[in-house]
Amino acid sequence: MRLSQAFPPTSKKAPADADTLSAQLMFRAGLVRKLASGIYEWLPLGLRSLKKAEQIVREEMDALGGQEVWLPVVQPKALWEKTGRWQLYGQELLRFKDRKGSEFCLAPTAEEVITDLAARELRSYRQLPTMLYQFSTKFRDELRPRFGVLRAREFYMKDAYSFDATEKDAEAAYEKMRRAYEKIFTRCGLRFKTVEAQTGPIGGSFSHEFMVTAETGESEIASCSRCGFSANTDLCRARSGDPCPKCKSSLEFSRGIEVGHTFKLGDKYSRTLEAQFLDLQGKSRPLIMGCYGIGVSRVVAAAIEQSHDENGISWPLSLAPYTVILTALNLEDPPVRQQAESLYRALREARQEVLFDDRPERAGVKFHDADLLGIPLRLTLSSKTLEGGCVELKPRNSTQSRSVSLSQALPELQQCLRSLTGG
Ligand SMILES: [Zn+2]
Repeated sequence: MRLSQAFPPTSKKAPADADTLSAQLMFRAGLVRKLASGIYEWLPLGLRSLKKAEQIVREEMDALGGQEVWLPVVQPKALWEKTGRWQLYGQELLRFKDRKGSEFCLAPTAEEVITDLAARELRSYRQLPTMLYQFSTKFRDELRPRFGVLRAREFYMKDAYSFDATEKDAEAAYEKMRRAYEKIFTRCGLRFKTVEAQTGPIGGSFSHEFMVTAETGESEIASCSRCGFSANTDLCRARSGDPCPKCKSSLEFSRGIEVGHTFKLGDKYSRTLEAQFLDLQGKSRPLIMGCYGIGVSRVVAAAIEQSHDENGISWPLSLAPYTVILTALNLEDPPVRQQAESLYRALREARQEVLFDDRPERAGVKFHDADLLGIPLRLTLSSKTLEGGCVELKPRNSTQSRSVSLSQALPELQQCLRSLTGG
């Protein structure tokens, strides 16, 4: 991709209503734009990161034996009335009527629809366990949308649902999912904590949240390094100075951004929606369920909240929209232009995800934008480096650059990328 053609160009300033660091950086780097309160457009660079997060999640869901589906975002009132959530969900549920006067809501989650589907299709213990998941737009009519895409009304989410024959099987499925979530957030290059959490309007017997640790996080976490206890303070009600509820040792407090939430539902939805199967003895029993969400759009913003400096974003390699930026200076100099084009071609042929800064801008502007965009590796080519037959290689998260001969640029780059993945 040529930066000269990028849509939109970078911006020096964020709008005044960008109320958190990730919202400001996402605007300035051109990842997203706001259409209305809590409603965002994802632009090419932002969408590339979103798709990378999505693909990591998909691979880990498939590895668990999950099967991907796509459920309606417009859902009938009748289903939501059966579970009592048409009332219970309150004003976050956006309701409307179609031309015939039938009432619907925009899905904030999909327990009703998936359980209804399971009631129709899962009949026998032989079909269990089954795990279904989807990626889709969700809508929650937040009273005060804020922090950019972190607390948007419309957002992109992965929701998964497990169906098991027994409590024991369901607990095993929950545990496997918890480990898959830890793998996902590790692969996304995030530092996170798994904490006990409130079940809220989803319900069920217990739940965990996955918190990206960041000082700007909305949630407070109490954790104990002695026994491993960790909980959202909304749940454990602990305050500074309180002892650990499990081992009475002292608690530490930190802040986090919730990016995932898992719920052990039991038969809460399968009973009310009559999702039953026939067991080995031919007896009808409710399906035992779990549900598991990841805010994919939130993962991208949380990565920025956690990984940035005063100059801009510093992407984890796995979520970066491009892995290398080729910053070419002195492009008015024909040999530099020729060499830059040839290096760009070679990198693309070697299947590197390269962003080519081919704009006729000053060095300062180009370096500034490379830092703002946060691409993990920068290759700089100029009249000066070309005199020595070299290109300069610099990781985004380092102040040190080094000279690499042009013929070695690709292998050196690949080596550097391997070291960033820890491989
Ligand atoms: Zn403890």
